[in-house]
Amino acid sequence: MRPEPYSWSVDQHEMRRPADAGELADRLAAVLAPGQVFTEGEKFEAALHDGTAFQGLTGRALVLVEPDDAAEVAAVMRYAYEAEVPIFTRGGGTGLAGGAVPEGGIVLSLARLNRVRSIDPGQWRMEAEAGVTTATVHRIALENGLMFPPDPGAGEQSTIGGNVATNAGGPHALRYGVTNHSVTGLEVVIPPGRLVHVGGTVTKNVAGLDLKSLMVGSEGTLGIVTAVQLRLVPAPEARGVTVATYSDNASGCTGVEAVLAAGIRATALEFLDRGALTASVGSLPFDVPADPGFMVIAEADGSAEEVRETLAGFEEALGPGSASTRTLVSRHETDAFWSWREGVSWAVAAQRGGKVSEDIVVPVERLAEAVEGTLEIGHRHGLEACSWGHAGDGNLHSSFLVDLEDPDELARAREATGNLFDMALALGGSISGEHGVGTIKTPWVDAALGPEVASLQVRIKQAFDPKLLLNPGHKIPLPGA
Ligand SMILES: Cc1cc2nc3c(=O)[nH]c(=O)nc-3n(C[C@H](O)[C@H](O)[C@H](O)COP(=O)(O)OP(=O)(O)OC[C@H]3O[C@@H](n4cnc5c(N)ncnc54)[C@H](O)[C@@H]3O)c2cc1C
Repeated sequence: MRPEPYSWSVDQHEMRRPADAGELADRLAAVLAPGQVFTEGEKFEAALHDGTAFQGLTGRALVLVEPDDAAEVAAVMRYAYEAEVPIFTRGGGTGLAGGAVPEGGIVLSLARLNRVRSIDPGQWRMEAEAGVTTATVHRIALENGLMFPPDPGAGEQSTIGGNVATNAGGPHALRYGVTNHSVTGLEVVIPPGRLVHVGGTVTKNVAGLDLKSLMVGSEGTLGIVTAVQLRLVPAPEARGVTVATYSDNASGCTGVEAVLAAGIRATALEFLDRGALTASVGSLPFDVPADPGFMVIAEADGSAEEVRETLAGFEEALGPGSASTRTLVSRHETDAFWSWREGVSWAVAAQRGGKVSEDIVVPVERLAEAVEGTLEIGHRHGLEACSWGHAGDGNLHSSFLVDLEDPDELARAREATGNLFDMALALGGSISGEHGVGTIKTPWVDAALGPEVASLQVRIKQAFDPKLLLNPGHKIPLPGA
């Protein structure tokens, strides 16, 4: 059941001053420097979208600012708080829930906070500013014999601040946990423009409430993250992947459950259904039987010996009922395979020019029902549908293929996502496993959390952001909207 339409309009804030974009830009150029403030041009236009451009979402803003450091972020917030202008925070703009799509006011980009402050290989630590890309964090960790496990798919563009704000996952979350697990401390600017630190370098600390974990995943609604202290892990010596194909969803999902039931510590356990495979199998770096109906990908890491043993376990668990299994062990093969896997989202979108995709999550044992349910919902709305994702976490990227030029099709796809959320909740799951709530899923928050918890969240937001100026209307439905 689709909830009442929800919208938070920036006009609900009585902007005391300034009256227009020009005046606002002038004021902010006095706080920053003229070259850090934009009201038009390519950069400004790009800041009105995020990864939801695939489904035609565009925002509006008065000004884009690019502060150079945490002190400048605080100065912008102080000004915005005084003038009562909303701030929409932006990392790499790869988010898939519309969280970085502004709805007026100031877009604050962390792009210039791109310095790695320290790396301490002996203590497995790194401190990076919020605008450092995820790929840079991975590269620097690896150069020091370490690994930053979270690996959301658009790492060349996404930022560590965005990963923290969305508590990003990715394939390796199965073994190593989502981003919060790898974060020990944060530097954050909170209203009305104060720099605070939550957590730190120690791995045990119960002196206060766990505000670090509260901030992680808060999607820019409580504060602006300016730097992140990370806990890294030693890079594994070896990796290997088993890829199994099946004729249908049910046998593939049985394979997934068999891996878990056997107690095998998979690093990643992924799936693609027939539609996702149809879109992407052409560029798969090896052959599989024609017209595969389902694919399961299981990855092992560790010492060479551990990897050999785990891969043998995968073969045993995934083999029965499969149409093919293949094991990849060389670095060249596994790298080529994972870069193919990263391209699946783009390949699906390329089918019809656009996709409306949601990352619902269900208990793993309900995965087959959710995969089938996605197809059934698509069919009901006259839309091609498919799904893929993180099978071991029960986290699906359920997608409807659309032509972005067809408003009727887009409207049907948005209606269909409502049915997806209802299905996820009915299966005992939730409306987002890793992409977040953003603007798109706000109407379902009450249903997902229950009214008491939803209202507790509003009170928490008010404690951090009493004027409700940080990403207003995103993630947390606000009273009076
Ligand atoms: C092809 C593709 C594959 C993807 N695969 C995955 C995946 O496997 N797993 C996964 O979890 N995600 C995935 N994503 C989604 C996306 O990459 C993640 O959500 C990522 O963490 C967003 O980071 P970003 O820097 O792009 O943030 P943005 O999109 O810029 O922002 C996301 C949200 O965080 C807030 N925010 C950003 N920076 C800050 C900050 N410094 N302080 C406070 N708030 C901030 C924004 O206001 C917004 O609400 C994928 C996206 C694409 C395009």
